[in-house]
Amino acid sequence: MTHAAVLQSPHHPLLLTDVDLEPPSRGEVMVKIGATGVCHSDISVFNATLPNPVPVVLGHEGAGTVVQVGDGVTEVAPGDRVVLSWLAQCGTCFYCVHRQPQLCETAGVAFAKGALLDGTTRYRLNGQPVYQMAGLGTFSQRCVVPARAAVKIPDTIPFSSAALLGCGVLTGFGAAVNTAGIAVGDSVVVLGCGGVGLNAVQGARIAGARTIIAIDMHQERLELASRLGATEVLQPSDGVVRAVRALTGGRGADHVLEVVGRQETVRDAVKMTRRGGQVVLVGAAGDDVTLTVPAFTGVVMTGKTIRGSLYGSADIKRDVPRLVGLYESGQLKLDELVTETFEFSQVNDAVDYCASEKGARAVVVFP
Ligand SMILES: [Zn+2]
Ligand SMILES: [Zn+2]
Repeated sequence: MTHAAVLQSPHHPLLLTDVDLEPPSRGEVMVKIGATGVCHSDISVFNATLPNPVPVVLGHEGAGTVVQVGDGVTEVAPGDRVVLSWLAQCGTCFYCVHRQPQLCETAGVAFAKGALLDGTTRYRLNGQPVYQMAGLGTFSQRCVVPARAAVKIPDTIPFSSAALLGCGVLTGFGAAVNTAGIAVGDSVVVLGCGGVGLNAVQGARIAGARTIIAIDMHQERLELASRLGATEVLQPSDGVVRAVRALTGGRGADHVLEVVGRQETVRDAVKMTRRGGQVVLVGAAGDDVTLTVPAFTGVVMTGKTIRGSLYGSADIKRDVPRLVGLYESGQLKLDELVTETFEFSQVNDAVDYCASEKGARAVVVFP
């Protein structure tokens, strides 16, 4: 038995209730959640823009302590502090061995089904299965997840900050560092400065970018972006493409990271990129958002690269320890990204906070 927040149908407040929790099967672990972030994808499932079967326990950005392990688990042991990843990379499939673990075949199946790797779930309510968002479902005091989704972390990092590593930080930092491969002296635009975009900003700073232009509608987020490394901040307006060109020698930026997922920002991202530069699409756009670039004059003649970045092209076993190291050395700011904390009983307020696009991250902390 555990206390969990269940989404019974879209748009309805999460029901805080006791649910049955089955023990971990082979290759799984039970984690006592210490903190969970609320990410925009949780809101997308909440309001049904991201399809997911219900009832479901939301939450895919968590950290906690391993309390029980199933057969065959060697990666972690009870008592270990871990950060959870929504992509339980296997390390052995075609994509994992071709250094594209963000496309892991076996993990993707669980993600799409809202279940664990065998297609079933460990939560039960009144005898009926309750789905686990992205194979996790961290809006709960305890959850059972694939062992390979749990990456060990040291005692030096508080759960409320560590939780963000699992989604927002890996996605944003990784888009800048892994996917874009930003180099010393480069110019970078980050369109959209929520939990993911702000980490793209600090990824660009740590990679050594000289010019980092952060664009967002919300002044509060732009102030955060400045603290995390943005050298210029802009609010979107009719002249925003011109403003970016003016800040980049009239050419446009080397890298433009689109983290919003709207038609106008996707269109602007292509225009803001210099000839020979690259557009990195990160935002979770609906299918109605499309790329319309003339193939020859827009791509061939300009030599622009347009690429997608899923989960920051992350390899979780490589990247989580690297991010923890950057946090310990003071280069990666995580505590600053937690702009509001909530108790578990206030989880619906945390969802509202995220939906209203306030601050960087709402984090629910458990006693
Ligand atoms: Zn997320
Ligand atoms: Zn794999």
